[in-house]
Amino acid sequence: MDDKSREQNKNVMNKVILFNKRPVGKPTMDDFKFVEEEMPEAATGQVLLKTLYVSVDPYLRGRMTNAKSYIPPFELNKPLQSTVVAEVVASNNDKFKVGDHITGNLSWKEFQVSDGSGLNKVDGNVASLSAYLGVLGMTGLTAYFGLTEIAHPKAGETVVISGAAGAVGSIAGQIAKILGCKVIGLAGSEEKIELLKSKFGFDEAINYKTTTDMKQAIADAAPNGVDIYFDNVGGEISDAVLANINKFGRVPLCGSISNYNDTEVELGPRVQSTLVKNSVLMQGFIVSNYMDKFKDGIEQLSKWLQEGKLDYSETVVNGFDQIPQAFIDLFDGKNSGKMVVKI
Ligand code: NAP
Repeated sequence: MDDKSREQNKNVMNKVILFNKRPVGKPTMDDFKFVEEEMPEAATGQVLLKTLYVSVDPYLRGRMTNAKSYIPPFELNKPLQSTVVAEVVASNNDKFKVGDHITGNLSWKEFQVSDGSGLNKVDGNVASLSAYLGVLGMTGLTAYFGLTEIAHPKAGETVVISGAAGAVGSIAGQIAKILGCKVIGLAGSEEKIELLKSKFGFDEAINYKTTTDMKQAIADAAPNGVDIYFDNVGGEISDAVLANINKFGRVPLCGSISNYNDTEVELGPRVQSTLVKNSVLMQGFIVSNYMDKFKDGIEQLSKWLQEGKLDYSETVVNGFDQIPQAFIDLFDGKNSGKMVVKI
């Protein structure tokens, strides 16, 4: 930032969103607090970043609890964080110049400083900047590695994807199609069912909110049974899919959003005998397990995008103040594809 802009910004305050309280059940706006702080300045070795896009993701709900997990809980009265695309607006760090665009796990602040660690440069000429939060970011990689490293799809197999019209699901389904599978998507509205079939090329799509017998609906859509179940939602939807699983089926457990706001542990069918009888592999995973392969994953996803084999959609919400609501709306299925907030 030059002297003139710094002078102009002197009286401008920086907006920040703090974690106000741990939600019980579905998060509400009371769990977030909007505050203002003085505009930060880049010290030696630091960059000043202007937030452009903020990713809201279901896994953030886990960080709002106190439970031990693969990533530490958010601290009360501290800024929340998620993956952000930002522009470097001042730099005292040799690795970054003004105008560079970066992604990183950053705070929910309009402006913030960083020493550059954990920041990755992204190129807005290769793909839209927001794509680095979705198809070319964490959710695209999750779809790619969950399928290729755990499910190992073979042409002709039947793949069921839950949360199919979301960020991970819509990419996972398309990758399974690219690899020659029959793909059935499960989603929660007629618009999403249409999107899965027309835009993303799914063979079948089932609206779990209007279907009374999901087990039968999946059996009808998958007359040869289910070879792979890419599970984004858990709960009763997954019970219905597992009732149709084939011998040597593979089940990458990506997420269980249907349970994230539960206040009590839900009991369902015990799956062990189904897995034993059918020699099924069920494996949970976190995308960061494959961090050493991220470069390859992004290269492959970019190639499919350039070749027109892969498509993506985004729900873009406008305004810094809308970040918490956009996050809450994930639990009401208000997004198609990746939910991002444009600042
Ligand atoms: P997303 O699917 O874009 O958004 C969430 C979607 O979940 C909503 O649009 C909604 O779609 C569906 N949903 C919400 N509540 C539900 C419920 N009670 N039952 C069934 N579906 C429900 O989110 P995403 O980022 O792609 O994440 C999808 C899943 O993958 C989440 O469970 C997430 O935690 C997980 N994930 C895991 C990893 C990993 O490393 N393992 C990485 C990224 C994401 P409908 O309208 O269809 O209900």
